Amino acid sequence: MSKPIVAIVGRPNVGKSTFFNKIAGKRISIVEDKPGVTRDRIYTDVEWLNRHFTLIDTGGIEPNSKDVIISQMRRQAEIAIETAHVIVFMVDGKEGITTADEEIASMLRKTNKPIIFVVNKVDTNNLPDTFYDFYTLGMGEPIPISSVNGLNLGDLLDEIISKFPETCEDEYEEDVIKVAVIGKPNVGKSSLINTILGEERVIVSDIAGTTRDAIDTPFEFNEDKYVFIDTAGIRRKSRIYENIERYSVIRALTAIERSDVCLLVIDATVGVTEQDKKIAGYAHEAGKASIIIINKWDLVEKNNHTFNEYKRDIRNQLSFMSYAPILFVSAKTKQRVHKILEYIKYVSNQHSLRISTGALNDVISEAILLNQPPSDKGKRLKIYYATQVSVKPPRIVLFVNDKELAHFSYIRYLENQIRQNFVFEGTPIVIECREKK
Ligand code: GDP
Ligand code: GDP
Repeated sequence: MSKPIVAIVGRPNVGKSTFFNKIAGKRISIVEDKPGVTRDRIYTDVEWLNRHFTLIDTGGIEPNSKDVIISQMRRQAEIAIETAHVIVFMVDGKEGITTADEEIASMLRKTNKPIIFVVNKVDTNNLPDTFYDFYTLGMGEPIPISSVNGLNLGDLLDEIISKFPETCEDEYEEDVIKVAVIGKPNVGKSSLINTILGEERVIVSDIAGTTRDAIDTPFEFNEDKYVFIDTAGIRRKSRIYENIERYSVIRALTAIERSDVCLLVIDATVGVTEQDKKIAGYAHEAGKASIIIINKWDLVEKNNHTFNEYKRDIRNQLSFMSYAPILFVSAKTKQRVHKILEYIKYVSNQHSLRISTGALNDVISEAILLNQPPSDKGKRLKIYYATQVSVKPPRIVLFVNDKELAHFSYIRYLENQIRQNFVFEGTPIVIECREKK
């Protein structure tokens, strides 16, 4: 089940980042404590009235010259139109309407996506005189907010979640494996997809139409159904976006959000970059299964050590996803490309693996015997029992006496024990502690 995506657009200085940070609040700093995961302020997960969504700040406009601002605003609006389910269009209540606001409004009018029109910097309960001018933009009724004072943000969030489409919960049938192919420009994503689809046993099928069809590529292999998510973005080669890191990250995020399995494609001649880490970190946090694909292996000069050296380096760089299998392939020579579908199927099964409460508790009890739970000030962590509550990703709840005693390192030890017994290759596992009095 994918989460809806909400994008904020508006000219520079209307308060987009302030709003974003206010909503993201302390959530971001908590996430940053997680080891190994680089978190960037492009997106944040929001929960409001039990609805979860991803808020993205399309920001990143550098105000140097007017022409540049306009063209970057256009891209920002296009990215929002393409990827978001709901668009928040923000203007500045202190400054009133500017030509830049009119520009954006005219771009946004071309989409059918729901747009929420927000006037920021209304810091008191009195509406400014200029407020009614905003109606002339033709974007409907504006919602006044103050990002700094936190005024009316609840109403705005109510409005946002009321606009979520019904369909983004289940675009495809349960048995279709949704695959996001992600990575920097030029690593060979589109070549790999073409090579996989070019194999004769793969049938590109007509899975019933949704609005998203145009950008996805559904296919069948050995009677299993798959879909490559957002292949339009990959194949159309929208370099204008991809050259700007922020936009290519946003694209990747939205594809990851809709997927079950992520293929993280890395160019063997370049290695793992910061951007790869960011994207991989998101796939991990989003609880998706992942396979690390090292492409262009044909270009690497090899000796007896090359393979192991590469592997070690990748494991170091992407240490938070040590569960992900690594495949060395070449889209050009087709070396090992046929393995990719096998692995997708395999990690997808692992991602939805369910283990019985009995078997799980046997493993946990044995783990506790081998290595006593930690204690603090004379109080020891007690784990009463464990149970798997959901799949995709596997989520395990430990019922304990005191959550504070469940240190990260001990939970990681338990995760390792669980993996030694049940494998869960290619998928993150979420372990959550709940207190049972
Ligand atoms: P962005 O370029 O759209 O991301 O805008 P910023 O978030 O950087 O904000 C631009 C300026 O507006 C900053 O000086 C903010 O402090 C200020 N600002 C943002 N929101 C509000 C608000 O609700 N009220 C007031 N008075 N100022 C705000
Ligand atoms: P994308 O931007 O990630 O979709 O990358 P492309 O599929 O467009 O590939 C970028 C360039 O790398 C093209 O010139 C491809 O021909 C080349 N390329 C892709 N895969 C391989 C490979 O496995 N080996 C070699 N030698 N070149 C490759």
